[in-house]
Amino acid sequence: MTTACHRCGRELEDNAFGRQDRCPGCESDTRCCRNCAFEEPGYRSECRETQAEPIHDFESSNSCDYFRPRRGPARTPARPQGPKSRSAFDALFRKGPPAGPRRGGVDDPS
Ligand SMILES: [Zn+2]
Repeated sequence: MTTACHRCGRELEDNAFGRQDRCPGCESDTRCCRNCAFEEPGYRSECRETQAEPIHDFESSNSCDYFRPRRGPARTPARPQGPKSRSAFDALFRKGPPAGPRRGGVDDPS
């Protein structure tokens, strides 16, 4: 059984929960409360492990000693994240020829 990323629903391997690890699907921190088995809305710090240090940023990686990957599907339905938004993301960071009229085409005598 694997753990589903809290944000995009991608399955995360058991060894993918280090402090530096990020979800290969959405680049969010994997070792965070949102992916933790102890997360439970309604509890103090939304955590069932009462001895754990209170954490205020539930979506950033933490050093909580009690962290345990949550099993099974994400509690909340994954947001739709199809190829469309992915390509938009890629376009932001892809390095390529600048948009606009091309110069030096076949019609250019020089
Ligand atoms: Zn993800």
